[in-house]
Amino acid sequence: MSALDTFRDETRNWLEENCPDSMRTPMPEREMPWAGKNPSFPNPDTKLWLDRMAAKGWTAPTWDKAYGGGGLSKDENKILQQELSRLKARPALTSFGLWMLGPALLEFASEEQKKHYIPQILKGEIRWCQGYSEPNAGSDLAGLQTKAEDKGDHYLVNGQKVWTSYADSCDWIFCLVRTDTAVKHDGISFLLIDMETAGVEARPIKLISGSSPFCETFFTDVKVPKENLVGQLNKGWTIAKRLLEHERSMISGMGMGAGAASMGGIEVVAKEHFGTHGDKIADPTIRHAVATHKMDQHAFGLTLKRAGDEAKAGMPPGATASMFKYYGTEVNKGRFELLLDVLGTQALGWGEESDGYDSKELAITRSWLRSKGNSIEGGTSEVQLNVIAKNVLGLPKA
Ligand SMILES: Cc1cc2nc3c(=O)[nH]c(=O)nc-3n(C[C@H](O)[C@H](O)[C@H](O)COP(=O)(O)OP(=O)(O)OC[C@H]3O[C@@H](n4cnc5c(N)ncnc54)[C@H](O)[C@@H]3O)c2cc1C
Repeated sequence: MSALDTFRDETRNWLEENCPDSMRTPMPEREMPWAGKNPSFPNPDTKLWLDRMAAKGWTAPTWDKAYGGGGLSKDENKILQQELSRLKARPALTSFGLWMLGPALLEFASEEQKKHYIPQILKGEIRWCQGYSEPNAGSDLAGLQTKAEDKGDHYLVNGQKVWTSYADSCDWIFCLVRTDTAVKHDGISFLLIDMETAGVEARPIKLISGSSPFCETFFTDVKVPKENLVGQLNKGWTIAKRLLEHERSMISGMGMGAGAASMGGIEVVAKEHFGTHGDKIADPTIRHAVATHKMDQHAFGLTLKRAGDEAKAGMPPGATASMFKYYGTEVNKGRFELLLDVLGTQALGWGEESDGYDSKELAITRSWLRSKGNSIEGGTSEVQLNVIAKNVLGLPKA
């Protein structure tokens, strides 16, 4: 038996013993394990599952053991992911720290910062939000104006961020700030700020989807210790770009259907609605549309897998993340459009469950509206096409 076969056996046994039954079911949005300092765990198994996985280092299986990661090789991680999907296990932790900040810290932070922040991220002890966009700096992110002035032993931060997802429930924010006003890209620094610091205020923004996580985040004379600067002063743009690549990789994964999984998947919904003919969806038009969508998703999944296999272990994502982000968001948006086609007016629920609406119907309506943001967040589709043209295809600048 090879070492990898042994690893698979041990992993399967451990997961069978440690993944609670309720963590092997589709995950309703309200049970998402965001964790943080003031966590909400409506289902106590969520916390148990998180703690067990974090203790193994398997919330970030490939990160270095020295910081609490799993230290798994690429092949071992592949086996772990296969075994997790075999059980239909829920993710143990959903976290901007895990998806975006952690990988950037591992590449750019000082040893001291890694030792301090990475273990907290892995265990879900701190919930992070992203302070990039500003009212006049979205696609043109390097135009940001939130200012951090050097005051000797600290930076003094003043300015405003916008579209800061979940800022009102987060503990810390990773933030791009202007530390030199004379130059654009070379005047940006990367700062970590405790949301409890005096002068930080997060104001929620309401949206049509009814469950908006958005906030405006204001900084008024916020004192930030100098040790919270990541990387060198005025060199934050490089970190910002790398973090965006990690964000785009994460968003492209939505193309694989995790959003609709909480409803049992599109095929299940279509069968429930139209009935079955043999084991197929009874309505031939919908059957054709679902099959086309599933082939698209499968082809996308295989391409993601091939790119993953071809990348050297530990290599950062690079500009190709833009290709996957662009296409993955189209697949995800297409899935929710199709769910609407399947359910017709039954996919247009509004209000609350307490008003008598079916929870699945509400979830589909909200997820459909939410999916529209996929091609905007993490950089719009137009911006991804620009990146692909320039950095993947090597086309000349217009
Ligand atoms: C669901 C969601 C979650 C988000 N979460 C966060 C968060 O947590 N933190 C955060 O900092 N930000 C967040 N954002 C903000 C997001 O990063 C910005 O909305 C995005 O970068 C676009 O910026 P903008 O809204 O200012 O649009 P603009 O930059 O004003 O763009 C408007 C339109 O012009 C087009 N455009 C602009 N420039 C070009 C160009 N050079 N070439 C071609 N077309 C162009 C765009 O594609 C778009 O269609 C989130 C956004 C969404 C939708």
